[in-house]
Amino acid sequence: MTRSTRADAAKRLPAPILQVKDLQTQFLTHDGIVKAVDGVTFDLYPGESLGIVGESGSGKSMTALSLLRLVPDPGKIVGGQVLFRDQDLQQISDEEIRDIRGRDIAMIFQDPQSSLNPVLQTGFQIAEAMLAHKKATKQQARQRTVELLKRVRIPAAESRVKDYPHQLSGGMRQRAMIAMGLSNAPSILIADEPTTALDVTVQAQILELLADLNHELGTAIVMITHNMGVVAGLCTRVLVMYAGQIVEQGPVDQIFENPQHPYTWSLLRSIPRVDALRHERLRSIEGLAPDLLRPPAGCRFHPRCPFRIEKCLTDLPPLVEVKPDQLASCLDRAKKEMGADKLLDIRPGAASGLEPGKIIP
Ligand code: ADP
Ligand code: MG
Repeated sequence: MTRSTRADAAKRLPAPILQVKDLQTQFLTHDGIVKAVDGVTFDLYPGESLGIVGESGSGKSMTALSLLRLVPDPGKIVGGQVLFRDQDLQQISDEEIRDIRGRDIAMIFQDPQSSLNPVLQTGFQIAEAMLAHKKATKQQARQRTVELLKRVRIPAAESRVKDYPHQLSGGMRQRAMIAMGLSNAPSILIADEPTTALDVTVQAQILELLADLNHELGTAIVMITHNMGVVAGLCTRVLVMYAGQIVEQGPVDQIFENPQHPYTWSLLRSIPRVDALRHERLRSIEGLAPDLLRPPAGCRFHPRCPFRIEKCLTDLPPLVEVKPDQLASCLDRAKKEMGADKLLDIRPGAASGLEPGKIIP
């Protein structure tokens, strides 16, 4: 691409709806400071679906919670900026951030049980979410609740609206949570491992639903997951997190084809194959996830990296552009042959034996 056509392409990009700059969130514990989010920077564009992927403990949830100032005690945001439509969410009042939560940026979690009140009818809770932001009258809220339940494909929505959460299956509860998340037509929906607790078939249905809603409503989706298969099924762009930092980011197609960080490569390698599942256990990444209280010096991934060289033990690699739109932080990627061609191609439409939307936990 010539410089001028690249510049033209860049001009056509819409302005980001959310800009996260050098976000730092820490836990002050008896043993020391835990840097749960350590300098995370990324943009989210209107209507896109962005994946945040990484092993458990890599800082995905704390990143998401920091955006809405929901980090639990004793966690604290100690640095950085979160700009939503050019407004710094760290600087606004508690009342203003409460207004943004749910109205502009909604969040759904892994366990709907913990977010739904067991003693209130599900429909009532969804209507309340609308009324809280004064976006509707009671009558309108009731009507819109039924529409929303239909939209998330809950059968017999008119009668289900009166069900209590325990009367719904796990998948239905998650659909109800998504309906609640969408109730105020937010421009961003953050979903933190929303399907992890569900069985494979239901998981695939929920992901399909999220993809449809993303297309139909233009809601930007941030999908947090430890599963690259989920990213392949839903997202167009991905951030790969390791030990509180982004180690690679870029278009999903490009990264699946040509991962430039060994950690991304390992994550892709650990996606299970449908046909091999019965014979082979999921290959997990060797070594332990790092202790964020005492992260390794140099590249945080070096103790587990099959490609490490000497300077990886001492130098922290910067996140640099390695291809158009693709960033990676690895000191020695040029010398590495990561065998991307040997990776299982699970992108929708790829001839891999894995049907699109069929996602294995
Ligand atoms: P993920 O969502 O990627 O699994 P989290 O964002 O929940 O990871 O957590 C990131 C890191 O934050 C954890 O590895 C842990 O070190 C730290 N952390 C989270 N909660 C606490 C807490 N209450 N006290 C101390 N450290 C915590
Ligand atoms: Mg989490």
